[in-house]
Amino acid sequence: MNLSRQIATHLESLRAAGIDFIPRGEPLVIQDAPLRVAAKQETRAAVPEQPSIAAPIDDAESRRTALAVLAKEIAPCNRCPELFATRTQTVFGVGPIDPQICFVGEAPGADEDRTGEPFVGRAGQLLDKIIAGALKMKRSEVYICNTIKCRPPSNRVPSPTERSNCREYFEEQIALVRPKFIVCLGATAAQNVLGSTLSIGRLRGLVHRYKEIPVICTYHPSAILREEPDTVLRKACWEDMKLLLGLMGRPVS
Ligand code: URA
Repeated sequence: MNLSRQIATHLESLRAAGIDFIPRGEPLVIQDAPLRVAAKQETRAAVPEQPSIAAPIDDAESRRTALAVLAKEIAPCNRCPELFATRTQTVFGVGPIDPQICFVGEAPGADEDRTGEPFVGRAGQLLDKIIAGALKMKRSEVYICNTIKCRPPSNRVPSPTERSNCREYFEEQIALVRPKFIVCLGATAAQNVLGSTLSIGRLRGLVHRYKEIPVICTYHPSAILREEPDTVLRKACWEDMKLLLGLMGRPVS
């Protein structure tokens, strides 16, 4: 996170905690370091021995705020001229922070571009079924995002420049969300997250790492939808979810 955003985030956290005044000269300690902020000066004069009111700011709360700040900062992004010109809006991500799982797709499609939420179209409905059926979880319990935050025209594959333009946003987002596991949906997402050029067929079935976070890869729900009535990819996806359940220490049925 850059310094200005760290400071903005920190000040918002203070305000949320009811602190709206920092006397000049007091140390402003940001991020993981403990917070030490004194009460308003006039209060301090009246009650000199009053202990620090620095109720420890919940780290999760700070990260939630920082995530909202990041989403706002990304919203007017114009790093990719074509995506900027053709998108309706950026599509940041949804879900709780500190989730067990973060699903990562490629880029928003038409439905996501219209609504601002990832995976809400047909592919998203299948993803919901995978989350409920294979993992016995609710969509609201997992974090969902894409490596690219804007819809490429006609859903074309994002260019290498577009991928690298968006990389910083993805990295900051994951650093704030802190999922226990990442599931990459499809080749483009998997290659972006892992910095690989291997096919999804080669990447799936293995446990990779993204900055210490275990990563598994599976087929994109759109690819699974396209293969009907065949079920090869569907079965492979089921196997991948079993691999994930095993990593999570959950029973595999
Ligand atoms: N496909 C993706 O990769 N992401 C979405 O959000 C929707 C469809």
